[in-house]
Amino acid sequence: MSRTLTGLAASPGVASGPIVRIETEEIVVPATADPKGALAAAAVRAQQHLAALAKQAEAAGNSEGAEVLRAQALMAEDPMLQDQTEEHLDQGQDLDQALREAGSELQTMLASLPDPYLAARAADVGEIVDVVRRELAGVGHGVDVIEQPSVLVAHELTAATTATLDPNVVLGFVTETGGATSHVAIIARSLGVPAVVGVADLMETSAGAERIAFDGSSGEIALDPDEAEADAFAERAVAQAEREAHHATFQGQSVSVDGKSMVVCANVGSPADIERAVAVAAEGVGLYRTEFLFLDRAAPPTEDEQYEIYRGAAEAFEQHVVLRAFDIGGDKPAEYLDLPEEENPFLGQRGVRLYEDVDDLFASQVRAVLRASAHGDLGFMIPMVATVEEVRTIRGRIDALAGELTAAGTPIGTPAIGVMIEVPSAALIADSLAPEVDFFSIGTNDLTQYTMAADRGHARLGALHDPLHPGVVALCRATAEAGLRHGIPVSVCGEAAADPVAALVFSAIGVSKLSVGANSVNQIKATLAGQREGVLDQVAEACKTGTTAAEIRASVAAVMTVA
Ligand code: PEP
Ligand code: MG
Repeated sequence: MSRTLTGLAASPGVASGPIVRIETEEIVVPATADPKGALAAAAVRAQQHLAALAKQAEAAGNSEGAEVLRAQALMAEDPMLQDQTEEHLDQGQDLDQALREAGSELQTMLASLPDPYLAARAADVGEIVDVVRRELAGVGHGVDVIEQPSVLVAHELTAATTATLDPNVVLGFVTETGGATSHVAIIARSLGVPAVVGVADLMETSAGAERIAFDGSSGEIALDPDEAEADAFAERAVAQAEREAHHATFQGQSVSVDGKSMVVCANVGSPADIERAVAVAAEGVGLYRTEFLFLDRAAPPTEDEQYEIYRGAAEAFEQHVVLRAFDIGGDKPAEYLDLPEEENPFLGQRGVRLYEDVDDLFASQVRAVLRASAHGDLGFMIPMVATVEEVRTIRGRIDALAGELTAAGTPIGTPAIGVMIEVPSAALIADSLAPEVDFFSIGTNDLTQYTMAADRGHARLGALHDPLHPGVVALCRATAEAGLRHGIPVSVCGEAAADPVAALVFSAIGVSKLSVGANSVNQIKATLAGQREGVLDQVAEACKTGTTAAEIRASVAAVMTVA
């Protein structure tokens, strides 16, 4: 029987298909009389599982993913992990302890190797150990072999798992946890995978359901849809395809809204995203979330590895490529930094608050950025800035590192240095920050989270998370006005930039650049270019008089032309 549910719209698009449930079972490796035999048998099954995944990735045309999985299958067979585990068993440890310790020793050993390829294999060891433990415990493998294009239904997906989803087989996903600006949602949008998150009681309600249809733009979901529901979702898919075809006619155009030109760039997190941004003719990169290059691996990327990636980004566009210093912390931890557990990670040591403690890592990134800047128009911006002192300290460190490289004869460029305005205090002291930097970029995801005191990943607080709340709009306006007064450009790179209503608000308050997921570049261009003369004054008025987010939304929607 069909059932309907609603969640938070996280990534647009209509998806419909069979359900693959991802059970988050606890891994409990049972005690056994023959641990060595159990280990050997589990390793064989792990190898078979990984080889099957590799085949699936290959068939889906994901040859990069297939190669990684094939390498993992080979490593699962390799006696090194088993031998090392057996040594720990001989010392009296139980099987789970022995396996985990052997894995972490192998990881440390590989991560210390100078060859970057081998060092990167350290992360694979962690994943193989996980697969073997799941085999021993008899629990599922998270995102498993997907036989046919399907929709994932899960309690939770991690940012790392989401980044490895293959859009050819994953038609979309629906999760019980998460907010619309959580990093899982952001990655889904960049992959073009429709998603709804924050669906209360999803796992319980969907138990036994075989098919699902949902709209990632509205958050509506039908479990085992009947014919009429299936038809309605199919119609939405057709309407969306028509809208996309219209948006695509703006590809490559420079646009203005009501006579004011607006640069539309893409947000990226990997070299593959750069290709997506180039494919939609984005005018540059407004936000490169470099931390994604540092996550889900056992050791950070080397300076040279980073240099190659940043140089590739600089060379992909003629101008406007903004790299953000790694924003590790919050919902993006990096295991190898071994940072202490925090009670409130989003209010803790995140972004700029971390750099002094991990100076070697920060210096390696700055050196890589400075070197890559010799090859194109790069900007470098600092996340989570709350004070003027933070900016001065970081600028001092960058200058010192630039001095060292120049003294050593290494060619470097001079990247523009900016700050993200995503902490309310930064917006309120924008006039004091402006003389210290070359540009501002407003991060509405965090600015909304911190202004509203509402965790951006919280499934129940979606309603508080509207960047058009008058309080958030006031901070954005204060930032834009300070930028205008001091003659520095102000952009918006939070997810709100991809919301057509909010994009008009930002245009009206003086923002000159928007940076959005690659899939939204054409839509935002179409929206801006499609407005009539005089609209921005009306939008500015709506922002001044609206007392709630809903009022501002409704007033702007009433005067805008929908693309
Ligand atoms: C933001 O906070 O709006 C932003 C762009 O950064 P992130 O989403 O990566 O925190
Ligand atoms: Mg942020």
